[in-house]
Amino acid sequence: MSALILNGKEVAAAVKAEVADAVAGLDFRPGLATVLVGDDPASHSYVRGKRRDAAEVDIESFHYELSGSSSQQEVIDVVERLNADDSVDGILVQLPLPGDLDGEAVVQRIDPSKDVDGLHPFNLGQLVLGRGGLRPCTPSGIMRILDHYNLPISGRRAVVVGRSFLVGRPLALLMSEKGADATVSIAHSRTEDLEVLTQSADILVAATGFPGLITAEHVKPGATVIDVGINRTDEGLVGDVDFESVVEVAGAITPVPGGVGPMTRAMLLANTLSAAMARRV
Ligand code: NDP
Repeated sequence: MSALILNGKEVAAAVKAEVADAVAGLDFRPGLATVLVGDDPASHSYVRGKRRDAAEVDIESFHYELSGSSSQQEVIDVVERLNADDSVDGILVQLPLPGDLDGEAVVQRIDPSKDVDGLHPFNLGQLVLGRGGLRPCTPSGIMRILDHYNLPISGRRAVVVGRSFLVGRPLALLMSEKGADATVSIAHSRTEDLEVLTQSADILVAATGFPGLITAEHVKPGATVIDVGINRTDEGLVGDVDFESVVEVAGAITPVPGGVGPMTRAMLLANTLSAAMARRV
């Protein structure tokens, strides 16, 4: 039997409509600043998409472009200026930064109340503590998609393959926090017998950047499979999950493209709205 396809585009459209409605009811326009360093085409395309999304929901966007030869201090100076600018509610520094620039150190200089990517140590710490704060966009987008399709998490066994601070680890925290209540394992490149572990998962998340890593043999029949991977190959854009084989075994699955990617973008807008409300209302 073929799995239910979890349509990230549709859920993202619903999130965007909610944000647009809320923005329309405000007497100010939330502001999102994007900071782009260097000339990496993928980074340029991501930032263009984010600015287009902001315009669609009437969030004002401010854009700063720096050359790839900028110094660490020059990038930090832009961040500090945006921290001090009251019309800016959210600051997004497009990662990775080119060359020797230290992206993590730059993110640490963002005012945590404007950290709409949710990657500042303060916000990650709030997540560990189970307290409020801005959550990283991809993990919160995944939680939203599960919620939208009423896919149960509580008491279920989840396996997250990938332990990055951007996706795997924060997602494992979100899934295991009180209220979500999944029992979560994190796998990584040193995990032995990955297949045995993933076969135990009611919810299996692949966030590795390894195209087609997860095949039907890794999946428990009926499991929910979330494919975070975005891999550009000769065959085009593919995920970390071998969709063709897994769709026959899983109960539900996100496609690539059109699954987690649009959710990540939508949650950035939701975070910008939250940051604006917390700062100005
Ligand atoms: P990272 O490279 O930071 O982390 C990858 C993780 O996967 C690491 O923990 C690594 O293990 C693990 N891993 C790699 N190969 C294997 C393997 N063969 N078996 C088990 N684990 C493995 O990547 P990100 O978390 O930043 O991104 C992961 C993927 O998600 C990428 O394709 C990225 O493009 C995509 N992505 C998609 C987003 C979206 O919106 N859809 C948003 C963000 C990322 P170890 O720690 O041991 O090295």
